[in-house]
Amino acid sequence: MSRLVVVSNRVPIPDKTGAAPAGGLAVALEAALQERGGLWLGWSGQTSETDEPGPLRTETLGPITYALTDLTRTDVDEYYFGFANRVLWPICHYRLDLAEYARREMAGYFRVNRFFAERLAPLLQPDDVIWIHDYHLIPLAGELRRMGFKNRIGFFLHIPWPPADILLAMPVHEEIMRSLSQYDLVGFQTDHDLENFLGCLKREGMGQALDEGRIQTEDRIFRGGVYSIGIETSAFAEFAEKAAGNPTVRRTKRSIEDRKLIIGVDRLDYSKGLTQRIDAFERFVVGYPAYHGKVTFLQITPKSRSEVPEYEAMQRALAEQAGRVNGSIGAVDWVPIRYINRSIARPVLAGLYRLARVGLVTPLRDGMNLVAKEYIAAQDPEDPGVLVLSRFAGAARSMKGALLVNPYDVEGIAHALSRALAMPLDERKDRWRVSMDDLLANDVTRWCDDFLRDLG
Ligand code: UDP
Repeated sequence: MSRLVVVSNRVPIPDKTGAAPAGGLAVALEAALQERGGLWLGWSGQTSETDEPGPLRTETLGPITYALTDLTRTDVDEYYFGFANRVLWPICHYRLDLAEYARREMAGYFRVNRFFAERLAPLLQPDDVIWIHDYHLIPLAGELRRMGFKNRIGFFLHIPWPPADILLAMPVHEEIMRSLSQYDLVGFQTDHDLENFLGCLKREGMGQALDEGRIQTEDRIFRGGVYSIGIETSAFAEFAEKAAGNPTVRRTKRSIEDRKLIIGVDRLDYSKGLTQRIDAFERFVVGYPAYHGKVTFLQITPKSRSEVPEYEAMQRALAEQAGRVNGSIGAVDWVPIRYINRSIARPVLAGLYRLARVGLVTPLRDGMNLVAKEYIAAQDPEDPGVLVLSRFAGAARSMKGALLVNPYDVEGIAHALSRALAMPLDERKDRWRVSMDDLLANDVTRWCDDFLRDLG
């Protein structure tokens, strides 16, 4: 079996506390590499003090060798905060209005991808299978090909791919699409994303779909496929069962008394629909007065990308909104929204999900959304809660037992909350079973196996 080489923007070496990073990519990949062994290369998350990024650092932990590189301040500003997070992220989440183009940053993105290729090249063996992850590293295969590497190289996009009308507004869209054609296999989260990608190629006259997932472009035939990422379902369900004894979970349980708990867990990001969600919760309490004082909405929202101006502004706006709603609908003995800007370790999260009667997951657009899947996996099969899920999350394609909502429809979400909270046990069990069966059959190991089988 060929060695597996994974490249992703961040390489989170597990720390001793077991606190997991807040990101679906990291959570999924670690499980995959543990099983196969191999090399994982990426950015250390550190910025070098000088104009030079310094030497590559490697560390072997069990079956995984981690290779970490620092980046310079300019690299981080242009590649990460610049093009990746102020152009590709909003564009891929259908937010043309938030994309900020700057030629210097676009050039920096391609330059840092070349630098990653230079760091990787000396470590590569001829039969390594290379798997590159996510929107930060789209040009990496093209750079490796230019250096003469003939290895099999796959790419998986963890975020959505937008329709042509949105993508084509991005100045370097042609280069980005051409970069993808340098892979042997390009994986998307849903059939919708793959269709959008093919639509973009077609619109620009850059390529067309052949049979069996093959795609013809000017100079190459490569393959595109759909691989919806899962979670480590059984392990997560076990975490959740054990978490009942966790002190934080026990204190939380005591503190909510006999109120019903609604939980939301999201990185602080404009794609997550948090403003609309808080509005919907307020609308729910006002519209269904029987629940006044009888529910607690716990929203766990670790800050992310605070250096990007759009995020900083949103942090302030959300904190203000949560405070305003608490002030207007709360009572002296009832704080309706608990809004927390701290990251919670996954084993504790698992216990909190299990305490909650409703998992409220309402992104405006999301590649997959692992929180939705974790919420289902964490439930007590004898008394499961209900997932209220945005139809614009990739997870909506498979979580057939969820109550699907339009995240822009605040009243619709409020109504779904009332339905979820009033749902009889039998219906809750039936709905949970349908989603859980899918999660068990399509866990992260299956995702990884399917992708690597097709790449091989
Ligand atoms: N997460 C966490 N602690 C937190 C918040 C989130 O460990 O305080 C984890 C969560 O369990 C999930 C991941 O971060 O595994 C978020 O993945 P998702 O696909 O939902 O969203 P992303 O952040 O990748 O957009």
